[in-house]
Amino acid sequence: MSLLAVDNLSISIGNVTLLDGITFSVDKGKVLGIVGESGSGKSLTALSVMGLLPLSRGRIRSGSVIFDGIDLTGLREADYRKLRGNRIAFIAQNPMTSLDPVISVGDQIDQVLRLHLKMTRKAARQRSIELLSQLRIPEAAEVCKLYPHQLSGGMKQRIVIAMALAADPDLIIADEPTTALDVTVQAQIIELLVQLVRQRDMALMLITHDMGVIAQACDDVVVLYAGRVAESNEVGAIFRQQNHPYTQALIGCIPRAGMAPGSLKGIPGSVPSVSSYASGCRFHPRCPAAADVCRTQTPQITKTADGGHVACHFSAGVQG
Ligand code: SF4
Repeated sequence: MSLLAVDNLSISIGNVTLLDGITFSVDKGKVLGIVGESGSGKSLTALSVMGLLPLSRGRIRSGSVIFDGIDLTGLREADYRKLRGNRIAFIAQNPMTSLDPVISVGDQIDQVLRLHLKMTRKAARQRSIELLSQLRIPEAAEVCKLYPHQLSGGMKQRIVIAMALAADPDLIIADEPTTALDVTVQAQIIELLVQLVRQRDMALMLITHDMGVIAQACDDVVVLYAGRVAESNEVGAIFRQQNHPYTQALIGCIPRAGMAPGSLKGIPGSVPSVSSYASGCRFHPRCPAAADVCRTQTPQITKTADGGHVACHFSAGVQG
């Protein structure tokens, strides 16, 4: 049984369907990437697993989110609070949204340990120093005494990762955890996070817009477009063969060594807003392979011959 299994999850606000039939799962010790452009529904998917949907009138229309045998869609807020930070941890894009500027970083990690693991002050500080050392922060005991503004962006994100790891959660959801960082530290942070997740047999749901990060870190990937799954598969398979034109386009956007100047491809147009989703296949206004049927009929998710799933009327990879 998967640690987290999201099945046919649909979320709507009024008549607008924000997420439509999202399905994926992640096992312990594995990294699942959720990829797509801004507006594809990645963060909303993460927030729905965390029970933090910012929708006053929004609701889960159908589907289930099963975490370790518990259906989170029916959970009371008080029970959700016991899971968050304890069994399910969240790493946000911008470390400053997770750190308190007036509390030293050591005290902030200590607080997680004391709250969730009931550690004494002394044991918590010892553990905080160990965590920072595992995250390759030199002179960790001294760093614990510093305040967020005294640290670089990369160091701050390591502190946030330490806070997420502190309570030994089963699942970490990381929403673009390196977007706010310099490219030079992005790869290091992702590598460290993935290494620690695998060592501790946790599961990681990694939200990103970057197929390069997917290739570097993930076992499986779900490609989202305009609130629907376009394609999902094991990462190696998806880089060998893309069954959906959107996945193909995303991979075409990755710069490669030796590329001729001007040969990097973009995807024409942009992800539509929720109020202007196209009929039929939501990708059809940007799809080079669109035909009449794409404008009127929604492609259903179908199993592919290489073990994945795709939603496209004309996918060559669909199982016969
Ligand atoms: Fe393109 Fe049609 Fe496939 Fe949509 S269903 S991705 S428009 S070919």
